[in-house]
This record gives sequence, structure tokens and C-alpha cells, in this order.
Amino acid sequence: MAFESLASRLQSTFDKLRGKGKVSEEDVTKAMREVRLALLEADVNFKVVKDFVNRVKERAIGQDVLKSLTPGQHVIKVVNDELTELMGGGQSKLAVSNRPPTVVMMVGLQGAGKTTTTGKLANYLRGKQNRKPLLVACDVYRPAAIKQLQVLGNQLDIPVFEMGNQTSPVEIARAAIEHAKEQHLDYVLIDTAGRLHIDEALMGELQEIKAITKPNEILLVVDAMTGQDAVNVAESFNNQLELTGVVLTKLDGDTKGGAALSVKAVTGTPIKFAGMGEKMDALEPFYPERMASRILGMGDVLTLIEKAQVDVDVEKAKELERKMRNAEFTFEDFLEQMAQVRKMGPLDELLNMMPGMNKMKGLKDVKIDDGAIGRVEAIIRSMTIVEKQQPELINSSRRKRIAKGSGTTIQEVNRLIKQFDDMRKMMKQFTKMTDKAKKKGGFK
Ligand code: GDP
Repeated sequence: MAFESLASRLQSTFDKLRGKGKVSEEDVTKAMREVRLALLEADVNFKVVKDFVNRVKERAIGQDVLKSLTPGQHVIKVVNDELTELMGGGQSKLAVSNRPPTVVMMVGLQGAGKTTTTGKLANYLRGKQNRKPLLVACDVYRPAAIKQLQVLGNQLDIPVFEMGNQTSPVEIARAAIEHAKEQHLDYVLIDTAGRLHIDEALMGELQEIKAITKPNEILLVVDAMTGQDAVNVAESFNNQLELTGVVLTKLDGDTKGGAALSVKAVTGTPIKFAGMGEKMDALEPFYPERMASRILGMGDVLTLIEKAQVDVDVEKAKELERKMRNAEFTFEDFLEQMAQVRKMGPLDELLNMMPGMNKMKGLKDVKIDDGAIGRVEAIIRSMTIVEKQQPELINSSRRKRIAKGSGTTIQEVNRLIKQFDDMRKMMKQFTKMTDKAKKKGGFK
């Protein structure tokens, strides 16, 4: 996961403060020294680190923080606020032109993920905002670039505008906007040429495209894995083109986090989106406050809830809750539940968004193995309908048959049935507990 080592270092620093009844100025200074080192090690720009630490110190030592009832928590809150501020404060949304189409120029170095992100953004605009995007192939130099965009367009069923590689990119961009107007498409996403390094010819061309198309957005795509380099690239592009936003890709990898934490402070350009994988739906709006909470181990419950809202069938969830309460939960429900959760994304990613999860020692290194989940599914699918509904019927000869049918072992079948039994028992107890509390007026 991105930020993993930064997150665990900050969290262990704050664990020392959290429980304290009293926090002295010296405690804060000591904690800030650790924060400073952790940020530097995460490849955050040194000047950004210095300013950050000074601001936190000033706020944490000043005011009434040290005298408050929970000074440790207060210091953490100050760090959380300042981390959020560092990444831009609030969410920076994508521009919308009141005279469509909205023109978005996508720029970046080769390999940063520009073409992929252009496809993802089109997919996002159509799916989440009901827009009609047009993809425009303006990288006429890299032989496969036009083809790559066409493949993405085909896969997404989103139109791609191209004029081969003999027309100038400026001309292509101009014609594309005309085309979008005629076709009543409301977003034009221009995939420009990338280079291995910044050079004058590239910048000249991008400036020309900018002058002709008057884009509402110029988004720079940078690879989060490149740390400080990403920030330097952003600074150069910003000087030449005046960027309106940054898309940070590969945040699903194990980037140390430096780019995410420095880009806004160094260039003044906000991060608008984060790339979280290679698939076309792996693009998320960037929320500084949520990212800060994730780094500090407070979880990202909002994103989790959003994922759940998008992907989970509400009716099914309600029915499931009713069954759980009445301890009517069967293996069929279990299978259904697993399918629902899997729709939300890789399990280890979901776990990371839960508050405190990344601190649970045992869980941290657990690689959730999709193969193991597949085996559980296979076991359940090898049960008969009656067995799924009444697991207590599954005696040893049935267990043998199920293991054989699913290509697993009897031990695995036993383990699953035991876990399932325990879960049902727990649900019963929980229902009893909440019912009691309700009677007492403890829960609303
Ligand atoms: P371009 O040269 O900037 O247009 O880069 P591409 O769009 O061709 O992407 C380069 C590589 O990065 C491809 O293999 C992409 O699949 C991969 N990539 C892009 N965005 C992400 C991301 O957010 N996460 C991961 N893991 N890979 C990405």
C-alpha cells in the first residue's frame, strides 16, 4: 500500500502521545523530531517538511492544546489538519465549462500513465457524472499511442478522434473540438505526446495546443512512485504551461508518499485525481482530508462507504441484516455476501481503509489471498441446497464428499464449517446484546 512506512512511523509516534494525560512541550518537540524524520524518509521535499513541522509545533504548543483534557489527541488533530492543508485542504474538482465542450489537456512524461489516465477519466466522467466525453489522439510520435487510445476507446465504448500521424497535433486538437461540438459531446480529453524528458520542442507544441484550444483544464499526469522527481517534473510543466491540476498515478503501489505530500506545496497546483490501478475504473477523486486520515491510521471510512454505496445492492444488504439478526444466515447468504464484498475491490485494499486496521500487527502483513477465497467458494458450491441452508446436517461422510467435489481437503471443509458456526453464534450473542441495550435505551 502507498504510504505504508510513513503511516506506521507516524502512528507509532502518536501512540506514545495518545494515551498521555499530560503532554509537555518537550513531548511535542520530541514527537515532531520523529515526524520530521518520517516525512524526510518518505521523500517529502525538505522545505515542505520544515514549514510543516514549524506550523504544527506552533499550533500544538500554543493555544490551549497542552492544557486540554486530551492533549495527545489534540496534537494528532493538529497534524491531521496540517497534513490535509498540505495536500490542498478541500477537494479540487474538475472544471466544467458553461459553453461545452469542456476541454481538458492531458500532459506528462512517457510512462507516467497519461494515456491510461485519459481513458480512466473519460470513463469516470461518463459513469459518475453522466457526461459524453471524446478522446483525442494527439500523440503522433509514439507509433503505438494512437492505437492504444483506440483500444481503450473501444473497450469503454467511448468515441476516439484521430487523424493519423501525418497531421500536426495542433490541427488535430482544433478539429476534435469542432467534431465534439457537432456531435454534442461535452468533454474533450486531449492525449498529448509524452517524452522521456522535458524538452523545448515538446513544451513548444503543448503551448501551441494550449493557445489554440484554450483548455479549461491542463492536467499533468505524474507517477507517484518517482517521489521527488514527480515534484520537479510538476514544477517544470507548471512554469511553462500553468497547470490547473495534477493526477497522481500508481498510488496503489508502494510509493513512499513524498509526491502526494509535496506537489501542492511546491507548485501550488492541487492534486485532482489519484490512479489506483491499471484497470479503467481505478481512478478516484483526490480528497486531502481522507488521505490524511489514511496516513494517520484513522481509516478512510468515507471512501469505504462510497464504495459500498456504489457497488452493494441495498435491498440485499437489508435482507442480510434481517437474517443475521434472526440467526437465519446460511451458506448461500455467505456466498452472496462474499460476492458483494469482492465487487468493492481487493480485500486488502478495503482492510486498509478501516480505522486502526493497518495497526493490527497480525493483519498488517497478511496478504489476502484471492486463491484461498476461491477455495472457500468452491467448498460452498459443492454443498447441496439443503446443506447450504442447514449446515448442521453436514456429517463426516458429507464432508468427505464436499472436499472431493471441490478439490479441497476435509480439513479445509471442517475449518470453514467451524468458522461459519462460530460466526452464527456470535451473531446470536450480538443480537441478544443489542436487544438488551435497546430495551435499556442504550442504542437508538
Ligand atoms: P503514458 O506513456 O504516460 O501514456 O503511460 P501509459 O498510460 O501507457 O501507462 C504506462 C504504464 O503504467 C501502463 O502499464 C499502465 O497500465 C500503468 N499505469 C497507469 N496508471 C496506473 C496506476 O494508477 N496504477 C498502476 N499500478 N499502474 C498504472
